[in-house]
Amino acid sequence: MLSARTRLAAVIGHPVRHSLSPTIFNAAFEAAGLDWAYAAFEVAEGNAPTAVAGARALGIDGLSVTMPHKAAVIPALEELTPDAEALGAVNCIARVGDRLVGHNTDGPGLVDALAVDEGLDLSGRRVVVVGAGGAARAVIRSIARAGAASVVVVNRSPEPAERAAALGGAVARVGRPEDVAEADVVVNATPLGMGAVTALDGQPEPLPLDPERLGAGQVVVDLIYHPPVTPLLAAARAKGLVAVNGLGMLVHQAAHAYRIWTQEEPPLAAMSAAVVAALEERTRSD
Ligand code: NAP
Repeated sequence: MLSARTRLAAVIGHPVRHSLSPTIFNAAFEAAGLDWAYAAFEVAEGNAPTAVAGARALGIDGLSVTMPHKAAVIPALEELTPDAEALGAVNCIARVGDRLVGHNTDGPGLVDALAVDEGLDLSGRRVVVVGAGGAARAVIRSIARAGAASVVVVNRSPEPAERAAALGGAVARVGRPEDVAEADVVVNATPLGMGAVTALDGQPEPLPLDPERLGAGQVVVDLIYHPPVTPLLAAARAKGLVAVNGLGMLVHQAAHAYRIWTQEEPPLAAMSAAVVAALEERTRSD
């Protein structure tokens, strides 16, 4: 039950009504018995700094930030972590006294999902990331930091690929679709597979990569979590490969935010169970 002592966290985004964050965090607070609550605020493009100022004035303890505000909130903050600074993107804001600190937990979320849920240590692995947008940039930086032997960025447009590869340091470079065949781990960080991208001629959306290039022993990761099995993951499974969707990343990036805000260990099982149930419900009503 909410009271005058209840601490508040929230997500700002546009659109935000589809967000699973309230489901994940409220399940976590309830499971842990914390007197916290989590809401969602629809914030129009251009209003992010005003929304952050409002959160500051109201004493909100944690803000999640989603599209299109991940860069726009930055001028409203006192401090950025090195990840948020390098990526130019914030997905989590914490209040430390009267200072607001911007974090980016997306990349660590993927690395934790692979380590904790799949038992996959990325150190020494050759990784191909397909895509060079916000999600790709975050995971490239974290995968390189996790000790990958190489991080090869394959993207439709060359310039974003160059900028994204620069985030991975010495082990990262821009590559070509053929490089998929040499990888231990292949990550799709494009929206291809959500069913939202349809070619102009009405054809179904293409796969982010040619599954013929996938081979024995590879782990295929799709950052998409809805649908839970994308055409890429189905093709990987048909070849007997380990195929992982983006649900673990979603839960573990939230787990990082939970630790930052509450300084406590998150109840991961409750968070996963809540988001799985919400997605099953969403799939039923699609
Ligand atoms: P974004 O910033 O818009 O980047 C999209 C990327 O996909 C770009 O590299 C773009 O290439 C490429 N792309 C888009 N349409 C394409 C097409 N038709 N053919 C080839 N390449 C195409 O998006 P984002 O925020 O990074 O999100 C990417 C995916 O990650 C989404 O599916 C999102 O749902 C998912 N995601 C998951 C999580 C999670 O927690 N699991 C978190 C964040 C994002 P160009 O550079 O050529 O435009």
